[in-house]
Amino acid sequence: MTTAATASRIYKLRLRLDAQGLDALLVSQPQNRRYLSGFTGSAGYLLISESATRIATDFRYFEQASRQAPDFQLQPITAAPLESWLPGLLDGLGGKRVGFDAAHMPQATYRQITQTLRSLPSAERPRLVATTDFVEELRAIKEPEEIAAIQAAVDLSDAAYAHLRRHIEIGWTEKRVAWEVESYMREHGGEALAFETIVAFGEWSALSHAYPRDVPLQENQISLIDMGVRLDGYCSDMTRTFVLGEPDSTFRRLYDIVLGAQLAAYELIAAGMTGEQAHMLAHRVIEEAGHGERFGHGLGHGVGLEVHELPRLGRGSDTVLVDGMVMSVEPGIYISGWGGVRIEDLAVMENGRLRPLTRSPKLEFEN
Ligand code: ZN
Ligand code: ZN
Repeated sequence: MTTAATASRIYKLRLRLDAQGLDALLVSQPQNRRYLSGFTGSAGYLLISESATRIATDFRYFEQASRQAPDFQLQPITAAPLESWLPGLLDGLGGKRVGFDAAHMPQATYRQITQTLRSLPSAERPRLVATTDFVEELRAIKEPEEIAAIQAAVDLSDAAYAHLRRHIEIGWTEKRVAWEVESYMREHGGEALAFETIVAFGEWSALSHAYPRDVPLQENQISLIDMGVRLDGYCSDMTRTFVLGEPDSTFRRLYDIVLGAQLAAYELIAAGMTGEQAHMLAHRVIEEAGHGERFGHGLGHGVGLEVHELPRLGRGSDTVLVDGMVMSVEPGIYISGWGGVRIEDLAVMENGRLRPLTRSPKLEFEN
């Protein structure tokens, strides 16, 4: 990542600080840290105020932090206790309002921070203010370079899926299928899996988050695979459901409904809608087909440095969808004792509409 990218993110962050009446933000969540500084190490804190950008990290990362985050002033952590380095990181912020991410800060760390602050002379003591999704809301709207990085991760999982479909045979176990796509993605540049691969045959596919077992694939059985890879820090996420052999009429019918729901979502979701409104467009299709209560999860979620981030597409989500957001569109129908069908693609909001990023083929039936 270029320092120009982080500079523009910090600029946006400072506007947001200003708008919310904060003087600085303390950042510890790993993807937020990376997003704002470029630093990919696993430990450290950022402090961003109107005039300062500082990074506190320990000796393992001094070198890496100064290389990846050259615009940040390094505050070395030479001893573990917070009181040895936190006052330096917060220097000059006495009496100021410093935001921190309440959801990502362990209770024990929060206690240590407040204890450390209490030990400071009152004139040097900043006031901590709990924030929610402060950086995540910025991250929800992707820059062109980020969309390109996500597309590259999506292309890699598309290629892995094509590889799987060329080789998969009756008798392969769920674990073997998972390994086939996972090893392909790692051998072709993937840094890591974006999440644990889901492979589910037959009735097992009714569990929306099934783990792969030692069970062999039988002819005419449902296969559901949900997979993703991380490339350059960015994630992909896709699901395909298929049958090796002859799908029965139930499968064909349900697949058509799920695909219809996904296509309706693609066609109708528009900028300005909330995450709940987007969800309901697909939900209505499934509900009208008589399976509303069998689509038990949200339609989708944002994808970026994390595989689940903002926006959330589901009931109760009032996030307004805007250009630059990348999200999954993943309707499904699950019937306990029979199995499940889910189809998941990633798409980006562009010119007010969704443009699919995933290119893996879907099934077509002429009913
Ligand atoms: Zn998925
Ligand atoms: Zn997903």
